[in-house]
Amino acid sequence: MRKIHRQLCFLASLVLVIDAGPIAHPADKDEATAEHYLKRFYNLTDVTNVKTDFRQGSSLTEKMKEMQVFFGLKVTGTLDKETMEVMKQPRCGVPDVAAYSTFGGGLKWQTNKLTYRIVNYTPDMSVAEVDDSIKRALQVWADVTPLRFTRIYSGTADIMIQFGSRYHGDYYPFDGPGNTLAHAFAPSPGIGGDAHFDEDEFFTFRSSRGFVLFLVAAHEFGHSLGLSHSNVPGALMFPTYSFTDPDRFSLPSDDIRGIQSLYGPNREKKPIQPDPKLPTTPNACDPNLILDAVTTLRGETMFFKDSFFWRSSPSRSMSQIQIRSFWPNAPDNIDAAYENPAQDKVFFFKGRQVWAFSGNNAVPGYPKTLSRFGLPSSIKKVSAAIHDKNSGKTLLFVDRIYYSFDEKAKKMDTGYPKRLEHGFPGMAGKVTAAHLSKGYIYLYSGNKVFEFSSYRKRLLRVLKNNDFLPCLK
Ligand SMILES: [Zn+2]
Ligand SMILES: [Zn+2]
Repeated sequence: MRKIHRQLCFLASLVLVIDAGPIAHPADKDEATAEHYLKRFYNLTDVTNVKTDFRQGSSLTEKMKEMQVFFGLKVTGTLDKETMEVMKQPRCGVPDVAAYSTFGGGLKWQTNKLTYRIVNYTPDMSVAEVDDSIKRALQVWADVTPLRFTRIYSGTADIMIQFGSRYHGDYYPFDGPGNTLAHAFAPSPGIGGDAHFDEDEFFTFRSSRGFVLFLVAAHEFGHSLGLSHSNVPGALMFPTYSFTDPDRFSLPSDDIRGIQSLYGPNREKKPIQPDPKLPTTPNACDPNLILDAVTTLRGETMFFKDSFFWRSSPSRSMSQIQIRSFWPNAPDNIDAAYENPAQDKVFFFKGRQVWAFSGNNAVPGYPKTLSRFGLPSSIKKVSAAIHDKNSGKTLLFVDRIYYSFDEKAKKMDTGYPKRLEHGFPGMAGKVTAAHLSKGYIYLYSGNKVFEFSSYRKRLLRVLKNNDFLPCLK
């Protein structure tokens, strides 16, 4: 009983949810959401008046800053638009603050042989799909540790798995559709290790419409084994949900490090190398960083590297996001990208294929091949692209040459390809990425960026990739 009590203390901040009653005025809804969020996930306790406590130095603003640091947001201590956006994202119900986490606190199972039991099923999926999702979610952790999981069908397992909505038998009621998706308890007897899934969500086997049970469960089982939340974007233990094709899933290195610090590596298999393409988060401070592509989109500038991009706009600080959490059907490691504002479309190039999106939505009929732009079939990939809305021309760079595509006439302009130094005197090396902004053309070559005036094509400055990125060092 004492151990169960300790387990509940681990999630004590969740109890406060019950006391956080609704605020009467709709105008205060965001402030109430923020207070509720910080109480649940950041152990905010002593708020007497949510209106007057939104002031500098109050425990509310301090907790807001803590949350902003965790998510890599601009640390303002105020409820800005970007912070509100993150607070509304679907996420795990376990708190983020270290004092409430077990990671580093040493809570772990004292045996490597654990049992699990699926107590009930969601009507959203077939029984076979649920069984398979749970099995693979546990296998994610077994692959990199000595942990082994055995399914039992009756009695009490170490990890009891159940679906429930609202009040479902513990002190931490779920919240209806959206927001909290699931929660789990750190290792210990009793409720420890158990994982609960919010039945008011729609769970899926592999579709991006709804929440992929395998992904949610793999995250929750991380808690069941003793991990807390990671602040590394792209880590499985990051608190918010992001869609990944379950068939392409590979456990990110941050999570491998975390679980192996508790249980050690899997000695039965040769060490699993983290897939360098998927989980490693690119570092904005890396002086040798070579960006894949850069484009504008509806007033923002987006810088692509591997499976991530940084986005910046005049009104928000820069944030790093996984490509597939923004465009579920887009490829990683793209070659080039550009925006055509007149069509409200952004185009991604990878190999001979071209994808088109309007905002987050895939444009039907894509991906198409490079021949859509009239490029010769000998071209295997485009290395960069820019679109000039004034002339209606799109320049497509292939290493040291470039083509000009007329978007209105839908054909390649005559006289192309041209050699790079012909159109852009002073440009050295192959073009690796490009973007056009406020009358300037930026051609990236390796870690250098050549700034040209877009009208006269005169070289103005040579910059570095990092000059555009949020390197905090
Ligand atoms: Zn979690
Ligand atoms: Zn529960």
